[in-house]
Amino acid sequence: MERVALSVDDVRELTRAALARHGCDDENAAAVAEVVTAAERDGCPSHGLFRVPGYVAALKSGKVNGKAQPSVDRLAAGVLKVDGHGGFAPLALRCGRAPLVDLARAQGIAAEVLTDIYHFAALWTELEPIAEQGIAVFAFTSYLPSVAPAGAKRAFFGTNPMAFGWPRGSHPPMVFDQASAAMARGEIQIAARDGHPVRAGAGIDADGNPTTDPASILGGAQLPFGGYKGSAIALMVELLAGGLIGEAFAFEAAQQDNKDGGPPRGGELLIALDPMHFGDRERWHAHSERFFTELCGLDGVRLPADRRHANRQSSLSGGVQVPAPLVDEVRGLAGLPPRA
Ligand code: NDP
Repeated sequence: MERVALSVDDVRELTRAALARHGCDDENAAAVAEVVTAAERDGCPSHGLFRVPGYVAALKSGKVNGKAQPSVDRLAAGVLKVDGHGGFAPLALRCGRAPLVDLARAQGIAAEVLTDIYHFAALWTELEPIAEQGIAVFAFTSYLPSVAPAGAKRAFFGTNPMAFGWPRGSHPPMVFDQASAAMARGEIQIAARDGHPVRAGAGIDADGNPTTDPASILGGAQLPFGGYKGSAIALMVELLAGGLIGEAFAFEAAQQDNKDGGPPRGGELLIALDPMHFGDRERWHAHSERFFTELCGLDGVRLPADRRHANRQSSLSGGVQVPAPLVDEVRGLAGLPPRA
């Protein structure tokens, strides 16, 4: 497939223009453009420009309010709530970030509940700026039913990612961010678009038979990673991002969704911990860095996020390569003429 070279700034501006043209105000467009750009920049294309048509579809259908102004409240001593008021998740997350860090610093541990948001971005974009401020942080969110629970033959759980960020002083934070599906849905959609099979174990067809055909999996169900163990993680995420915080479980999100291809309504839970309050005030940083040194000394080991940071360095200097049809589609959504 033909690819087009774009700078990171081009990606941001294209995304921002497409969203602004379809009803996002400046703040919302900038917040979504930031996460799309970060994904494209770090080599995570399934959450980059590929998502822009979905964001635009959700604005066009009226499902998402592109001018939503999130509000932040205190639910309990250690619990903050960000109400997204029907907007895309990135602005709600941005508004909740400083209050969460401040509360974790004051109390050692703080949780943040995000409700009435529309989310289908990568979680690491949310955790990195928190971990960069010296705070360890978890995130959980659910998605539309896509994954068959262990033993089942139809989708019930969302792809339900969880992520964890750990501060590393002058090093970029360690952040892992993983779907509880064996493979991210966006990757399966991209494989279907590009006509490639996916790896064995990613999913089953509508009759429950294992398949590597991405279109059959999209019509059937994805499988959890690690069998019943990943299934248990997906279950936990449903409870934390749905039951605990009063937001939709994946099956309820599907009942409410208008199927416009954009992100579904849902919730998210963040839990932030300040290592300065956990008993190893003097040593936690050096001690953990020693652990990373030992770990990375093992042959074949790399840290989660290392791949992204390496991609980031090369994208910032050399730009990114994006499939030409996708660039043309997003240009069209931004009201720009086709490429010369
Ligand atoms: P991957 O399986 O590609 O990666 C999961 C994690 O493992 C990453 O942190 C990755 O780091 C790390 N990793 C991969 N290979 C290695 C290795 N060899 N050694 C050490 N660490 C490694 O991600 P998924 O497919 O599970 O998820 C993709 C994205 O989809 C996530 O960002 C997730 O948030 C997002 N998502 C969002 C949803 C939503 O509704 N908002 C729903 C489902 C998924 P690295 O990046 O450095 O490779």
